[in-house]
Amino acid sequence: MSEQRISRRVAGIAESATLAVDAKAKALKAAGEKVIGFGAGEPDFSTPQHIVEAAAAAASNPVFHKYTPTPGLPELRAAIATKTERDSGYKVGADQVLVSNGGKHALYNAFMSILDPGDEVLVPAPYWVSYPEMIVLAQGEPVVLPTTEATGFRVTLDQLEAAVTDKTKALLFVSPSNPTGSVYPPEEVEAIGRWAVERGLWVVTDEIYEHLTYGDARHSSMPVAVPELADRCIVINGVAKTYAMTGWRVGWLIGPKDVIVAATNMQSHATSNVSNVAQAAALAAVAGDLAAAEMMREAFDRRRQTIYKLLNEIPGVVCYEPEGAFYAFPSFVDVLGRELRGHTPQSSLELADVILEEVKVAIVPGEAFGAPGYARLSYALGDDDIVEGVTRIADLLA
Ligand code: PLP
Repeated sequence: MSEQRISRRVAGIAESATLAVDAKAKALKAAGEKVIGFGAGEPDFSTPQHIVEAAAAAASNPVFHKYTPTPGLPELRAAIATKTERDSGYKVGADQVLVSNGGKHALYNAFMSILDPGDEVLVPAPYWVSYPEMIVLAQGEPVVLPTTEATGFRVTLDQLEAAVTDKTKALLFVSPSNPTGSVYPPEEVEAIGRWAVERGLWVVTDEIYEHLTYGDARHSSMPVAVPELADRCIVINGVAKTYAMTGWRVGWLIGPKDVIVAATNMQSHATSNVSNVAQAAALAAVAGDLAAAEMMREAFDRRRQTIYKLLNEIPGVVCYEPEGAFYAFPSFVDVLGRELRGHTPQSSLELADVILEEVKVAIVPGEAFGAPGYARLSYALGDDDIVEGVTRIADLLA
């Protein structure tokens, strides 16, 4: 009999650092502290009313108390296909859509469906915390490609070319990016897509922040820029960020039909369909217009400018201007090793603890994203809280 109580595969997985920071901050708040939380990656807005009403109507209708087909309500899959063409220009059939429990579950389904043990996946860093862990769970091997401000936190073709081996199966691509807020210009999206086609690689492209771009930056969808990629491309998306629906847990993957059939089979044994009522809400979201999303985008843009300016005013802190999503990703390298109210943090991990302890501000250390020395601050919180939180950090570092 094996002595191993927890499987090696699962025991090796780290707790999600972003959720851990959020939990710490919430515990302090519950204890009566006035904590400012830059940790969580979720809009502070409520879900738009017409979406909530659609869900309420569904909850009162017994038809929605039953299972749906595993890949989702047929009308939702069709509406996602229509919305995808409307928003990014990617033409797909409803049978190329699998509705999953959030973008996270869609990504997990994608990696499980295409990776065999030992398959390598190129993952540009700073990366979103969950990508490497999901790849490992699917028995693949993440190959991390570090990037810095020097390239706008964007991976280059030279880096990709240097990292590719005969074991490389896929590239993980995300733009706008969590945690850096970087957005790839259309010509780079196309060049990377062409390179993937030449190399015979798959691309898992995460488009969950497609509508959150600022200034001149625009989201550009890789399989639209490079149609030849479609047969080896999986697009990830969901309602969480665009419609302030993080708690509803609806996302999807779009891919070639064999991948969708395989992923649907797997989902049928793991979780079956997504909550029927949540699918009704998602249908109202994707079939509706983008007016509420645009209103939220404008608020994020204003907050982005505030946080970017305030962070760069702190001596020793350098923040690259985010162009998408709702995160700032400043470097704290020059403040490490300094004495701060009796502490001398040597890493961003230690610094984040000192900031939480001393000034009750929660930030996520860069270690969680494969980028020590940096930290991620979500600016999806109220304007006054942003000013208050960054001012507290500035006072601590003064
Ligand atoms: N992809 C990225 C880049 C994200 O930042 C997130 C959430 O933080 C997700 C996917 C998953 O979103 P959800 O599972 O809430 O739909």
